[in-house]
Amino acid sequence: MKYIHCKVFGHDFYISRHVTNFVKEYTCNNCKKEFTTDSSGNITALTPKFKEINQVLGNIHNRRITKARKKLNSDLNLLAFKH
Ligand SMILES: [Zn+2]
Repeated sequence: MKYIHCKVFGHDFYISRHVTNFVKEYTCNNCKKEFTTDSSGNITALTPKFKEINQVLGNIHNRRITKARKKLNSDLNLLAFKH
């Protein structure tokens, strides 16, 4: 029954994982199928290959945030030093 709902009305996505600002993983509330955003911004089935790509993307993304935070901290240290 649930699968028919997806076929007729389309999947009922919710964001199950936030990979980067542009890439997210989605799960369908009805059939529990997983999807993701591909490099062109389209929603596509979350295959093991895409899971791997998202894992790497997520790691790079997190590293960038950590780097930005470190930079901010060192800037703050400089400011503190000036005073
Ligand atoms: Zn569905």
